[in-house]
Amino acid sequence: MFVDASIFPAGHVERARICIFGSGPAGMTLALSLAESGIDVLLVEGGGLEFDAESQALYQGTVVGDLYFGLDETRLRYFGGTSGHWGGACRPLDPQDFVARPGRPETGWPIGAEDLVPYLAGACEILEISTQFDDPAFAPGLVWQDFHFSPPVRFGDKYLSYCETAPNLRVCPSSSLVNMLPRNTGPAAIGTAEVVTEPGEVSEGDHVAWKVEAEIFVLCLGGIENSRTLAWINQQNGRRLIREHDLIGRYWMEHPATWIGEAILFDNAREILDQIAFLGPDWRDQGMELYLGLTAGKQDENALLNVRFLFLEQAYASTKQLVSELLCLAPTLGYKLASAFDRNLICGGRLEAMWEQTPDPANRVALGEKRDRLGIPQVELHWRVTDTDRKSIAASSLEFARLFAEHDLGRVRLVDWIDDETIPMPQNLRHPAHHHHMGGTRMSASPETGVVDADLRVHDLDNLYVGGSSVFPTSGYANPTLTIVQLSLRLADHLRTRLAV
Ligand SMILES: Cc1cc2nc3c(=O)[nH]c(=O)nc-3n(C[C@H](O)[C@H](O)[C@H](O)COP(=O)(O)OP(=O)(O)OC[C@H]3O[C@@H](n4cnc5c(N)ncnc54)[C@H](O)[C@@H]3O)c2cc1C
Repeated sequence: MFVDASIFPAGHVERARICIFGSGPAGMTLALSLAESGIDVLLVEGGGLEFDAESQALYQGTVVGDLYFGLDETRLRYFGGTSGHWGGACRPLDPQDFVARPGRPETGWPIGAEDLVPYLAGACEILEISTQFDDPAFAPGLVWQDFHFSPPVRFGDKYLSYCETAPNLRVCPSSSLVNMLPRNTGPAAIGTAEVVTEPGEVSEGDHVAWKVEAEIFVLCLGGIENSRTLAWINQQNGRRLIREHDLIGRYWMEHPATWIGEAILFDNAREILDQIAFLGPDWRDQGMELYLGLTAGKQDENALLNVRFLFLEQAYASTKQLVSELLCLAPTLGYKLASAFDRNLICGGRLEAMWEQTPDPANRVALGEKRDRLGIPQVELHWRVTDTDRKSIAASSLEFARLFAEHDLGRVRLVDWIDDETIPMPQNLRHPAHHHHMGGTRMSASPETGVVDADLRVHDLDNLYVGGSSVFPTSGYANPTLTIVQLSLRLADHLRTRLAV
């Protein structure tokens, strides 16, 4: 049921076994899974049931570094969270994304791909996608990457009426977590969470402050806000609540993306695609959108970050132009292409790369000087595409182009900066990144290297957990929400075991 916290008397204490903050894909999945097992859950959501500008304004902040989206545009602060405008592209992380790379101590998850497999079917059901992900070989060294598309599920719309009547679940909208205080006895743990509810039109000081006492607390505030809130709570507690290794907010990652050139696809490449059963018989008529990558072996061989190459079929006139340019540059190949083009045996398209960003401690969510109207420092996001990123994406693109030619699948024409380091990498050819906010409270085996453990529990705190992509130690290239939902289902299992339910 929904609870109107704006009528709580001053100093009110709400009690629950588990209190979850944030109702996006991470928090909603966890809350519903636990409540369905009979556990008493309180779900506290900072925004209202619908979008409103005043709640959204609490997401304002600044970006230091490369071109990025406005921080109040790249996420949503209301019931259902950012699923209110996500695109729905889904894919699990690749097994190699979990593995530590040689000579790179910042890589490697304390869990493996196999730990998330049991939660794939449940996550796919929630996101309304099929569970079968196939990555057929496209050619030696190259794979087709299978993405599925959620309708997309808007968690607020999908679960609103369910939340009204769900047993064991209380939802408090318009209520923001602003602080946490330690328990006075027993192992280091959270005793109380402080919450502020802003009813209706907001004016300065017009709010109700109340408290939550729970056995377990879980932050599911999104891939930027988890770090901001944890850093702020620790600061308010004299940095003694969480032992400081200067890691909160660090190793923040996105999926940078940029156009890397154009490609011509020969008919034999299209014949291989005809064999990929799940594309269906009509795929040639639909305006081709292909997702291709390098195999794990190729990545390891060349120490490359994981990458997705997107081929987007372009109009007839653009392909004709590309063929005539090639005719001038490489006449032998050009004549072959021109003749195939006349017989409708090739097609052309633009190539976009979206890649795993190298985890870098300098990329971080920090607390800025300016404060929001609840008194919390706004986010100062430090984000740059690093030199390692650039080198890796350049090397991957060259390898991709080489394999394309070697297997006579077509030809790739890469943009100049790929093999000329003196040319700056443009940031805004399509968009700078994908609104995927990862890292900041990374998962690790020890508190020296991360913020949460393999069970998503904050190191050194007995009852505080974190859900969402802020726990990713590395990002792969796959859109994060399917993994977020898998992790929440896994966390629900862990908490059921812990509470012996
Ligand atoms: C334009 C766009 C397109 C996208 N497309 C895709 C895609 O195709 N595929 C994909 O996988 N991902 C996509 N994403 C990313 C996807 O939306 C996120 O991965 C996902 O929503 C994260 O879920 P979450 O629950 O961790 O965080 P969120 O969905 O951000 O939810 C966080 C919740 O916490 C609440 N909250 C914040 N602060 C407080 C507080 N102090 N107290 C209480 N509650 C608070 C917020 O109101 C919100 O409801 C896209 C994102 C954008 C912006």
